Amino acid sequence: MADYIKFVDVTKCDGCRACMVACKNWNDLPAQPEEFTGSIQSHNTLTANTWNVITYDEQVTANGNFEWLFRHKSCHHCGEAFCEKACPETAISHTKFGSVVVDADKCVGCGYCVNNCQFGVIQLATYVDDKGKEYRKAQKCDLCTGRLEEGLRPACVTSCHTNCLVYDEKEKVLAEAEKRLAKIKERFPNANIYNPPGIKGTTTVYLLADKPTVYGLPEDPKVALSQIVWKDYAQPLGKMMLGATTMAVIGAAISTAINKGKGEHEGGQDHE
Ligand code: SF4
Ligand code: SF4
Ligand code: SF4
Repeated sequence: MADYIKFVDVTKCDGCRACMVACKNWNDLPAQPEEFTGSIQSHNTLTANTWNVITYDEQVTANGNFEWLFRHKSCHHCGEAFCEKACPETAISHTKFGSVVVDADKCVGCGYCVNNCQFGVIQLATYVDDKGKEYRKAQKCDLCTGRLEEGLRPACVTSCHTNCLVYDEKEKVLAEAEKRLAKIKERFPNANIYNPPGIKGTTTVYLLADKPTVYGLPEDPKVALSQIVWKDYAQPLGKMMLGATTMAVIGAAISTAINKGKGEHEGGQDHE
């Protein structure tokens, strides 16, 4: 697991969106104009070209006032990642920094990672090759892994003027998070540190002002045992015996079945 983590203290966010601009800038992602729908939130959700979004949830406080709950929404970099387990091509992997990254050369654009991420993070981008043929690749926040390799912090973190976003040693950050949690409990009684143990923690950890569900986050996400067995045991063995292509086709079928079952149990709900 990562020695350093990205920490998001949503109670320090003032909704300025500098992190969104920094992410677009560093990753050379195109602007994505959206229709005004009556909300001051700039983008409805994450897309293949928008890797972080500040969400604005309006809430009534105990004394009847309104206040905004902001959240810097991007990839959680799950310790046990739904997207990685679902990918039939081993195109998604963990780096030494604990970031979860997509290898575009291996990605075949099947979209199983999109269907299986319980956070609604990873998305498909469509491109056209020089013969006019369309192809798709999965895209998402990579924790600025290229910057981490150079000893730099993620671009969004460097742009944050309130210290809502921090990238530092895991133990130190988590100890400070506990102190901060104790300090804000009176104002935010439901505040909590969101680092789900069911997915072996995450490399982007949140201090939330309210219950995860208020932010559209699953309370206790877990990767299905069938996905773990498939990815960690059946797929490597099957590749040796049947070949990579056959196993990718079987993987696609299993992934679809898992997702169908998930939809039936959860009413097909999107968590975000
Ligand atoms: S949040 Fe989604 S896209 Fe990010 S690592 Fe977890 S499963 Fe993958
Ligand atoms: S689109 Fe398919 S091949 Fe590409 S990363 Fe997602 S699951 Fe893997
Ligand atoms: S870590 Fe990098 S890629 Fe991820 S949201 Fe921040 S700027 Fe974007």
